[in-house]
Amino acid sequence: MDVKLERTDPFSNRVLACEARGGDACEAMVVVPTITRPGEPFTVGVSILDRFRLPSFEGADDVRLSAGDEDKDGMALSFSADQPAIVRVHGIVLEREGLHRLACRLNGQTFHSNPTLCTADSRRRQILWGDPHIHTILSDCHPDRCRSLNLACIASRDAYFLDWVTLADHVSNGRSSKGKWKAMWTAVDLFDDPGGFVMLPGYEASLQGWSGGDNNVYLLNDLPAYVDEYDSGNTLTLAKELGERLPQGAFFIVPHHTSRPGKHGAIPREIYPGADVMPVVEIHSKWGTSEFRGNPTPLKHGVADAPSFVRDLLAQGYHLGFVGGTDTHTTLTFARGIESPHIDRLPGLTAVQTNEFSRRGIFRGIQRRQCYAACGERMLIDVRISGARMGSERTVSLEAARRARTVRAQVAGITDLESVEIIRNGQVVHSATPEGWKTELNWRDTTPLDEVALTADDGAARFAYYYVRATTVGGGKVWSSPTRFVLACEPGRVVRPRVGLHAF
Ligand SMILES: [Zn+2]
Ligand SMILES: [Zn+2]
Repeated sequence: MDVKLERTDPFSNRVLACEARGGDACEAMVVVPTITRPGEPFTVGVSILDRFRLPSFEGADDVRLSAGDEDKDGMALSFSADQPAIVRVHGIVLEREGLHRLACRLNGQTFHSNPTLCTADSRRRQILWGDPHIHTILSDCHPDRCRSLNLACIASRDAYFLDWVTLADHVSNGRSSKGKWKAMWTAVDLFDDPGGFVMLPGYEASLQGWSGGDNNVYLLNDLPAYVDEYDSGNTLTLAKELGERLPQGAFFIVPHHTSRPGKHGAIPREIYPGADVMPVVEIHSKWGTSEFRGNPTPLKHGVADAPSFVRDLLAQGYHLGFVGGTDTHTTLTFARGIESPHIDRLPGLTAVQTNEFSRRGIFRGIQRRQCYAACGERMLIDVRISGARMGSERTVSLEAARRARTVRAQVAGITDLESVEIIRNGQVVHSATPEGWKTELNWRDTTPLDEVALTADDGAARFAYYYVRATTVGGGKVWSSPTRFVLACEPGRVVRPRVGLHAF
């Protein structure tokens, strides 16, 4: 195999040494593209991390990467002291189709890469991994822990091999300025490198409880000044203000840690800006998971009494895909043990299915819900429900709604799978406990959809949604974006809005 090694450049080394200098080697992070093609060379990232998951500067020479189907002995890698222990190995090839993991030996321990699906099927789009929610020193929030914009981009790109990020710094409550806004855009311009590493511009616009809570705004194009509706606005007024400044489709808003007490993300119908403007919700961050009340990794801060979990929002009839982010206030997506104690759960991540490795590709992928959320591990998930892709919506006749649906899911983790569950309208309707790190699920749902359909809180639609959630023994999780089925109106049925639903 003809491989080439690429080390980090001197500027990256200096930035990492200044702000994220790691100690003794503790683990190997091995990152491969989630989709690879048989016979086509690709790049593997290897970074040796310390116990806080900062890149080690202590040197390592007992590292072996098993880099392909035939590579039983592995390739020796070495790292010198006083340099970040990071390398990109170009030219790795897999010949056999199917799910693979690479292995890396470090100090007698084996670490696996994220799974890759090697497939010749060109319909399987590339998957680009990112953290849409990084805070830097611009946030003036936890300034003792946050780091610079340079570090944010360099650590994400070089130490953790992410494909894209958003520096989603706070603007509300007087925490931004014209200068900070310009600094964010300068970093976006400096580091955006289509095909290599993408900067998705955005910021965090905080709102009050019952007004939508904390939301991030993501932008396709330049926005001369940020819009902040902190004191008196809500998700709808924020969307309207942005809509007056930007072309249609050039921004979207994403609620996050929606179960946070006080500033929770309950979204009454009168402030819901619509699925075009709010296509996804951040289901997990280092704060914890907001999927449903009672979930095993809730926000460490406690949870709101309001109906503000993701399950509540889906039940209202909002079509929301899922993203994961970190909300890191150390500026380091994978750092652990150095965040504030209430922001120290496993990192949330977003996987975007797109063949367009550019800002536009990432932006449109999320806007179209062609994405999924993960926590801790870059897991693979693909779900088809009677042919419908995850994140899509299908209108079905009453007759079709009464026919069985087939749920097919392909799932793989870095560590072994613990469970794979199919959720329909907030309920687990099927679960499996597979052995090993990969599985395929095939389940027929014979329940007539019209018997279990929910009614949107404005009475406009009867619908059902499905998603698949998988967990690993390593604490990893993945959530497919919900697939929604909307029942076509039955002849003669009069849809009456349900009143009083917002008076919780
Ligand atoms: Zn903050
Ligand atoms: Zn945040």
